[in-house]
Amino acid sequence: MSIKQNLKELKSKLPKEVALVAVSKTKPNSDLEEAYEEGQRVFGENKVQELVQKYEDLPKDIQWHFIGHLQKNKVKYIAPFVDLIHSADSISLLKEIDKRAKQNYKSIKVLLQIYIAKEESKFGFEKEELFNFIESKELQFENVTIVGVMGMATNTDDKEVVAREFGELKSIFEELKSGSFSNNPEFKEISMGMSGDYEIAIKQGSTMIRVGSTIFGHRNY
Ligand SMILES: *Cc1c(COP(=O)(O)O)cnc(C)c1O
Repeated sequence: MSIKQNLKELKSKLPKEVALVAVSKTKPNSDLEEAYEEGQRVFGENKVQELVQKYEDLPKDIQWHFIGHLQKNKVKYIAPFVDLIHSADSISLLKEIDKRAKQNYKSIKVLLQIYIAKEESKFGFEKEELFNFIESKELQFENVTIVGVMGMATNTDDKEVVAREFGELKSIFEELKSGSFSNNPEFKEISMGMSGDYEIAIKQGSTMIRVGSTIFGHRNY
């Protein structure tokens, strides 16, 4: 099937309140243009250099989301134009985003990436660590707007494990929403779900899914 057909079919299955981030990493501009022609405006990338290049080449009404592990020394390259950073996973990274946002006279939206998987390789805050940072007021920034949380489930065929992990992320979100973020109406997003598990994620309360291969086909690295 074509990218347009894949996208149309996927969108027809999504509840209208769930936002779709089309994950276009490794894919050529022509693939993104095809999705763009089908109406897609939100794209996700996980490499800074690739994101900057695509931003320069493609239409300016695209909203670019950064979804990969972000190195502090590269924040400055995306700060001028990035719409949402899904992967804020340390205080030092948040401080750097705050600084670069300030230099660009703007506020940058981020999601707190939370570690929910049973795998060593995934990035993110541990739940306890996060609540400690909140307690000690280290999560307060002038030019960073925290709009929600993001997480990745364990890469497994066991749907119960995946559902439990997404359920955990949803409950952490609710705890934050009713606690320290209760005066913050912008705190409303739960970014969870990829090609293999977005249906489970939506059942668990996802508001934003990040889907690549279901739209664009398999990636060759
Ligand atoms: C690559 C990637 C995705 C999309 O993965 P697919 O399985 O192709 O849908 C989603 N989120 C993150 C953080 C990614 O790196």
